[in-house]
Amino acid sequence: MDFQPSLRSDELKGRLVEFDDAVVRPAEPVYRQQRADSGDPHFPPPVMEDLKAEARTRGLWNLFLPDGDQGAKLSNLDYAPLCEVMGSSPLLSEATNCAAPDTGNMEILAQFGTPLQQEQWLHPLLEGEIRSCFAMTEPWVASSDATNISSRIERDGDDYVISGHKWFTSGALDPRCKVAVFMGVTDPHADPHRRQSMILVPMDAPGVTVVRGLPVFGHSEGGGHGETLWENVRVPKENLLGEEGGGFAIAQARLGPGRIHHCMRAIGLAERALDLMCMRAQTRVAFGKPLADQGVVRERIAESRIQIEEARLLTLKTAWMMDTVGKKAAQTEIAAIKVIAARVATDVIDRAIQLFGGAGVTDDWPLAAMYAHARTLHLVDGPDEVHMRQIARRELGKYAHLRPAGF
Ligand SMILES: Cc1cc2nc3c(=O)[nH]c(=O)nc-3n(C[C@H](O)[C@H](O)[C@H](O)COP(=O)(O)OP(=O)(O)OC[C@H]3O[C@@H](n4cnc5c(N)ncnc54)[C@H](O)[C@@H]3O)c2cc1C
Repeated sequence: MDFQPSLRSDELKGRLVEFDDAVVRPAEPVYRQQRADSGDPHFPPPVMEDLKAEARTRGLWNLFLPDGDQGAKLSNLDYAPLCEVMGSSPLLSEATNCAAPDTGNMEILAQFGTPLQQEQWLHPLLEGEIRSCFAMTEPWVASSDATNISSRIERDGDDYVISGHKWFTSGALDPRCKVAVFMGVTDPHADPHRRQSMILVPMDAPGVTVVRGLPVFGHSEGGGHGETLWENVRVPKENLLGEEGGGFAIAQARLGPGRIHHCMRAIGLAERALDLMCMRAQTRVAFGKPLADQGVVRERIAESRIQIEEARLLTLKTAWMMDTVGKKAAQTEIAAIKVIAARVATDVIDRAIQLFGGAGVTDDWPLAAMYAHARTLHLVDGPDEVHMRQIARRELGKYAHLRPAGF
């Protein structure tokens, strides 16, 4: 195994950290103030456009894209350390046009989109002119099992007609969100993994309604998580992404690199929490000595460092495997990092909150918001249990010959 990032990755990381320290973090209060002044929790603060312009000038743009003229063409292993930096800074991903769900959507548009679809949607996304959302999860079925998805995409002449009810369509409340990648059933009689397709739906198409934003732990800022209704939405047949019945395959293709991005960001989040924990422990005095001198505090700091290192190494191993032997051979690792990165982030942030006392649960420090985000990582992109199930299935498969007949 060789996890050494290339010189280019190191160099980009250095520039990303410099951009974050000098430009992005100082803009955080401006960003919050502009949104507060607008009175709209989903208002996109204009300072973000300044940050994006500066990122482009510095050559820190579309770093996620592995192919094509507009991306940085980094391997997973080289992009991973950049994601970690992005995870520790709330505005950095969007400022560099590397934010979810756009990154996953751009990847599948680059891979499966027709020239027309790319012209219409991929190029403005790559330019940072519009944003997008991904509509798969539905309120009335257990969506961790994607074969349950029941929304319909039905062919009618030269069009497809879309009907369904979705929720947790992240980003749908952002006024810049212009297109959805929608997943629905095209053939209910096909094999369960060939029933679904993906289609591109303009958010201003008649019949698309964003009913409300779903608050997460009471928070609803930013692009929001939309509950969305799709009532007889008609789009040209050319909007189908890939082939009919190819929805699952596209969803799988979207998963691998996206998983590395998510996990390294979660590790960046955990690093920031540990950073805050250590600073607080050294400066806060109780019972005659700094908190840092209490054995229990030291143990929690040590435990956090160990967990972060474990999670980072496993994620880098996964990135390295994806680059060298491919996604299929890395399936167990891809599932494992999803579980471990969310667990480490919530564990470390939880310890940091405890160390901060009451301040930890206020908005005076970023820990409460970080915790809310980390907690959702146990659910998004499939709940932990589903990934554990896959890992266990592969492990048990090695012993299938020992199973008694009839079971
Ligand atoms: C903040 C946030 C953002 C999201 N963004 C998006 C988005 O942009 N687009 C989108 O389409 N979706 C999005 N989601 C939805 C997310 O992907 C789903 O919530 C997730 O896949 C689980 O589906 P579900 O909520 O229907 O849970 P269910 O399928 O109802 O599962 C509920 C629980 O059942 C248990 N469970 C399920 N299967 C098993 C099993 N095999 N073994 C044991 N236990 C099991 C788990 O504990 C699971 O949490 C988002 C969710 C959140 C919270």
